[in-house]
Amino acid sequence: MENVSGGLRGKPAADALDLETKETVRALRERGVIPTLAILRVGAKSEDLSYERGAMKRCAADGIEVRQVLLPENVSQAELLGRIQALNEDSTVHGILMFRPLPKTLDEQAACAAILPEKDVDGVTAGSMAAVYAGKGAGFAPCTAEAVIAMLRYYQVPLRGSRAVVVGRSLVIGKPVAMLLLAEHATVTICHSRTADLPAVTREADLVVAALGKAEFLGAAYFRAGQTVIDVGINWSETKQKLVGDVDTEAAAQTGAAVSPVPGGVGSVTTAVLASHVARAAQRRAGE
Ligand code: NAP
Repeated sequence: MENVSGGLRGKPAADALDLETKETVRALRERGVIPTLAILRVGAKSEDLSYERGAMKRCAADGIEVRQVLLPENVSQAELLGRIQALNEDSTVHGILMFRPLPKTLDEQAACAAILPEKDVDGVTAGSMAAVYAGKGAGFAPCTAEAVIAMLRYYQVPLRGSRAVVVGRSLVIGKPVAMLLLAEHATVTICHSRTADLPAVTREADLVVAALGKAEFLGAAYFRAGQTVIDVGINWSETKQKLVGDVDTEAAAQTGAAVSPVPGGVGSVTTAVLASHVARAAQRRAGE
């Protein structure tokens, strides 16, 4: 573990998580269980392909097998549901990752609902959401939301009794991050596009999680010295011609806040969380 003053890079946190996953996988393999992730991809969007490459590399390094189910953009809903059903019934598959958004012709909600919660390693089913909200049950938190917590744990950021502000209320990031922080005994405020005087709210916090999807939107006025800022945003900046977060990192750092970088922050922890979920799903099935 490292202190936050050394920076908030994702890689060391991902490496620490990987060590634990490798140990879990080693123990499972000794008992003849090969943790296996099925990746279900419809079409070939460049963001999906890039995440898929990262996930496959991480899984291979951790000893997790990956099976790809690749479907054409014009696949029917019945065919997609049939493939999900087959993966649910395949006892050698422990986790299912389905890339979203699906093409508009498909009913994404129905496809997500079809995945067995115990194989839902990216937290897309109602069962997983219930598990995040109730703190127990089958399923997992969405990988990015949990990656935020993994970063905070790794850097030993005190959460109990702290004031946390989450900017963004999506089902994928904002809401689950807020619930996970609550479970860590933080006092959590969730902000969104209608929040009045957002800079005043974020400046009050000990921890700010930025997940609003707006390139470098949060500048110096939103931060103060001594804060921890986790930037979940991934946005393409036309002016800079590169990926940037939701936080103006330079401006925020000048206030004295400790900010996670983009790229190289939360994004690098997400696939490590995915691999850990597959290992845990296999462990749960093995009855450990
Ligand atoms: P989303 O579904 O578009 O949700 C954005 C949220 O931010 C909404 O709740 C919205 O409020 C709020 N918001 C928008 N503008 C705001 C403003 N000016 N002030 C305050 N709140 C505002 O986005 P998402 O899927 O949660 O993703 C958020 C970011 O994370 C994106 O940049 C995305 O690319 C990135 N992301 C990163 C990873 C990773 O691995 N690091 C993974 C997935 C996504 P309303 O609800 O009022 O509209």
